[in-house]
Amino acid sequence: MIELENVTVIYNKGTLDEKVALRNVSLKVEPGEFVVIVGANGAGKSTLLKLIVGGVKPTEGRCKVFGQDVKSEKIFKCASIVCQDPDMGVFPNLSIEENLILASKKGLRGLSFGRIDKKILELLISTKMGLEQDLKRKASKLSGGQKQALAVVMAVASNPKLLLLDEHTAALDPKSTETVMELTERINRDFGTTILMITHDMSIAEQYGNTIVVLENGKIVARIDKRREKVAA
Ligand code: ADP
Ligand code: ADP
Repeated sequence: MIELENVTVIYNKGTLDEKVALRNVSLKVEPGEFVVIVGANGAGKSTLLKLIVGGVKPTEGRCKVFGQDVKSEKIFKCASIVCQDPDMGVFPNLSIEENLILASKKGLRGLSFGRIDKKILELLISTKMGLEQDLKRKASKLSGGQKQALAVVMAVASNPKLLLLDEHTAALDPKSTETVMELTERINRDFGTTILMITHDMSIAEQYGNTIVVLENGKIVARIDKRREKVAA
């Protein structure tokens, strides 16, 4: 689904501000995988995500999605992204129900029917955050954890093949982090959605996901496949 082949990304190449963000990185993400990229600030995690959505081009090497170079104009037809800030993933002045219908890409015209996909409603209930109890509540009234859980459910309401998570629990307290991570796992397990998540939190990386890729200074220094219990550099 995603393949990075010997990718190097250099910002401001040839100037005094030249910065190598990724060095000769190769990575394959197969359909159905749950890959967590972990690394400290400045390790190159955001650059890696930007490559996949076409926001940054490789200075050297190739980044392919479905076997072809990334086409930034097409990627969001098959991929959804959830970012760190709970206020970025929901429309504050719309109700929970309106947010979900809008996210399903059926458009607000579908609102008059008031129907949310059963699978999506069940996913919302599974968070046990009480979001389903009053679907008419405005998103602005929700807690940070509730907003982020709603944002994750919204991200899969359009049935994406790929879910990109950009430090999506970094602003949450430990309890909400656990809830949102369990929701993330459930999406991968029950819907088969391929997930690529980035985090700076090693304990989250260790606890969740099938594959952990450790980035240090723009290089992959370890790849841990939990299902095979094999460690390789
Ligand atoms: P992370 O997400 O792991 O914190 P980034 O991918 O944001 O890492 O950054 C990797 C390195 O590239 C850092 O040293 C950062 O300062 C640098 N960098 C990131 N974006 C830019 C940019 N637009 N211009 C110049 N340097 C950048
Ligand atoms: P099509 O291109 O005919 O829509 P594909 O099976 O090639 O069908 O792709 C399915 C979806 O995956 C596309 O609609 C597009 O959103 C996304 N996609 C496929 N390849 C790429 C790519 N290289 N870059 C970005 N998005 C892609």
